[in-house]
Amino acid sequence: MIRLQNIEKVYRTDTIETLALNSISLDVDKGEFLSIMGPSGCGKSTLLNIMGLLDAPSKGDVRIGDQATLNLSDKQLAHFRNKKLGFIFQSYHLINDLQVLDNVELPLLYRNTTAKERKQLATEALEKVGLSNRIKHFPTQLSGGQRQRVAIARAIVGRPEIILADEPTGNLDSAMGSEIMEILIQLNKVDKTTIVMVTHDENMANKTHRLVRLFDGAQVQ
Ligand code: ADP
Ligand code: ADP
Repeated sequence: MIRLQNIEKVYRTDTIETLALNSISLDVDKGEFLSIMGPSGCGKSTLLNIMGLLDAPSKGDVRIGDQATLNLSDKQLAHFRNKKLGFIFQSYHLINDLQVLDNVELPLLYRNTTAKERKQLATEALEKVGLSNRIKHFPTQLSGGQRQRVAIARAIVGRPEIILADEPTGNLDSAMGSEIMEILIQLNKVDKTTIVMVTHDENMANKTHRLVRLFDGAQVQ
C-alpha cells in the first residue's frame, strides 16, 4: 500500500544541514496497522510527512498503491492526498470558530459534493466516533478526547484508504487515549483502513500489527 525506497531527508538552512532520515526502506501492507516509535528528534514526524506526501524526500521513492509520486505536481499531490489519505495530529488541528459538523465537512469541500451529501457523510463519520450528540458544539467546548474524535471523523469522512496519525494520544490521559486507540483499531479491523501511527506509548504500539523503531534517522528494527 505504501512503499518507501531508500528515503533520505536532509533539512538545509544557510548554516546547518540535518540528516533527518538516512536510507529508509519500508513497505506498509494494505490493511496493516503499523506503529513507529523512537526518541524525540529521530525522524518520526518527517517519515510520516513523507508517507503522507506533505513533504518530499531529498532522495528516494515514495509509492502509494500503484501511484508513483515523484513526478506529481503540487496540485496533483493535493488532490491525491485529499482522496486517499486521512491525517490525525497530536494537537487535533481543528478550526475553533467552526462547529464540529463544519470541521468534519472540510475535506469534502474540495470534492464534487452537494451540501446535503456533505452533511450526511459528516454525520455518519461523527456517529462512527460516537460524537453525534456534539455536532453543533465548537471545538473549545469539548474535552481533548472529544476533540480528537472530531479530528478522526474529519480524517475518515472522505473514506481514505490510509490514515496517518502523529501521536494521536499524545495529549490525552490514558483512559481517553485508550478510547482513541480503540476507535483506530475498529477503523482498521472493520473498514480495513491501513493505519500508520507514530506513538511514544509502548502499550498503544503493542496493540498494532507491527512496530518499527527509528533511531537517529535510521530503522533499527
Ligand atoms: P491476533 O489478534 O490473532 O493477534 P492479528 O492482530 O495479528 O491477530 O491480526 C488480525 C488480522 O489483522 C488478521 O486476520 C490479518 O488479516 C490482519 N493483519 C495482521 N497483520 C497484518 C499485516 N501486517 N498486514 C495486513 N493485515 C494484517
Ligand atoms: P521526531 O518526530 O522523531 O521528533 P522529526 O522528524 O521532527 O523528529 O525531526 C527529525 C530531525 O530533523 C530533528 O533532528 C530535527 O531537528 C530536524 N528537523 C525537523 N524539521 C526540521 C526543519 N524544518 N528544519 C530543519 N531541521 C528539521
